[in-house]
Amino acid sequence: MAGRDNFPLLMELGAPGRRAYLLPELDVPGKSLEELIPGEYLRSEPALLPELSEVEVVRHFVGLSRRNHGVDVGFYPLGSCTMKYNPKVNEDLALYPGFASLHPYQPQETVQGALQLMYELEHYLCEIAGLARATLAPAAGAHGELTGLMLIKAYHESRGEGFRDEIIIPDSAHGTNPASAAMCGYKVVEVASNERGSVCVDALREVVGAKTAGLMLTNPNTLGLFEEDILTISQIVHEAGGLLYYDGANANAILGKCRPGDMGFDVVHFNLHKTFSTPHGGGGPGSGPIAVKADLVPFLPVPVVEKRENADEFYLDYNRPQSIGKVKGFYGNFLVMVRAYAYIRSMGPEGLRQVSEDAVLAANYLMAKLKSAYDLPYDRICKHEFVLSAKRQKANGVTARDIAKRLLDYGMHAPTVYFPLIVEEALMIEPTETETKASLDEFIEVMLEIAREAESSPETLKKAPHNTVVGRLDETLAARHPVVRWQGRQDTEDKTRDE
Ligand SMILES: *Cc1c(COP(=O)(O)O)cnc(C)c1O
Repeated sequence: MAGRDNFPLLMELGAPGRRAYLLPELDVPGKSLEELIPGEYLRSEPALLPELSEVEVVRHFVGLSRRNHGVDVGFYPLGSCTMKYNPKVNEDLALYPGFASLHPYQPQETVQGALQLMYELEHYLCEIAGLARATLAPAAGAHGELTGLMLIKAYHESRGEGFRDEIIIPDSAHGTNPASAAMCGYKVVEVASNERGSVCVDALREVVGAKTAGLMLTNPNTLGLFEEDILTISQIVHEAGGLLYYDGANANAILGKCRPGDMGFDVVHFNLHKTFSTPHGGGGPGSGPIAVKADLVPFLPVPVVEKRENADEFYLDYNRPQSIGKVKGFYGNFLVMVRAYAYIRSMGPEGLRQVSEDAVLAANYLMAKLKSAYDLPYDRICKHEFVLSAKRQKANGVTARDIAKRLLDYGMHAPTVYFPLIVEEALMIEPTETETKASLDEFIEVMLEIAREAESSPETLKKAPHNTVVGRLDETLAARHPVVRWQGRQDTEDKTRDE
């Protein structure tokens, strides 16, 4: 470990005058640097920069990368995030110069291949969703939610029902759902889950009404459970005049198995960066396309990619009078679309179905093996993920957070903890379809060992992690005041700029 972790930081390396490479002498005839650059842009003092050799720079960044955990390094069961392995061939395709070097202002006749890819990807996603048309513009799941809600709003307004100002959301929902609804100007009405972890249909009947604009639902929900009453739920909301929004961020359990459109949903978003092979976790870029049923198509954001009838020609259609307008610069995150397109084409319908079957099998296998050692509040067949509770361990003073931290010592990423909010000491585990049985078995062994440690040496868990570069951070400070760049000498005033 020492060799791996004790590499010197950039700020400790270097010496005045040390260089990675040298630029050739200025050979612009007759002029000095001072004459070439206007005086106002010239520095009066040299910039405070680290001075390093090339190998020092390389070691610094490679060293930093080895402090990180990623799915290319080890198991990553982060529930509701689908941290699955993304085939490297899709990365290669996204790097093709014909894709990567496109300019968004290029004339349309020179980007026919890109438009065709977007057109076909849209239609594949519609087929998977069971809906009519889609937009690829939104840059993330939450952005898709906001866009979808704007479409719902435009739809109601077009029918003279702009007074519908309530969105119903279950208490198990992902936090972005109420946040998006609030951002779109809606009032959020919460509906309770029942003892089986599903939406309580009686509670739903009580909250729907003339003010209902729609219901947002994840299915399977964030407990990893399929909403068996979905057809009744859909009927109740539609009869009240509302629409159904499907949060399909994690579609790993339904691909080729069932379609949100057939369940009665009117709007769906997918996270291409979770389900469709774009690596994520580093903050982007992402893509959150939304698919809609026919009634909502006129309101889709511009531009829409269309194909000319009887011609093999694609174009961007801006002439859509009822459109909600633009939701993103240009056309969305195109290279994420390339990866998703490559993934869908290479998997094919059978391959996508297999993804769901394997993801669900892996989750149920882990659940069955771990439920003797941890509490399982909703003991039902799960879909792509399941939620344990560390209530039993808490009797010994060991929390879900302690268990999560201890997993890091074993070289595995922690599950999602303390979510969904309706489970005390929640550990939300999503193994994904890309792990071997051997790696699932290793995780089971480690989790069982941690459960034993919680009995025999709870202190070990409370002080974990022991093997990582840093221990327990002040998470608020680390997020609000991260030190992510070299700041020159310790005494620079530069620090104040971060405030
Ligand atoms: C990840 C996720 C989202 C949000 O997606 P972002 O791309 O992070 O905005 C929404 N809902 C669920 C269920 C999710 O897992």
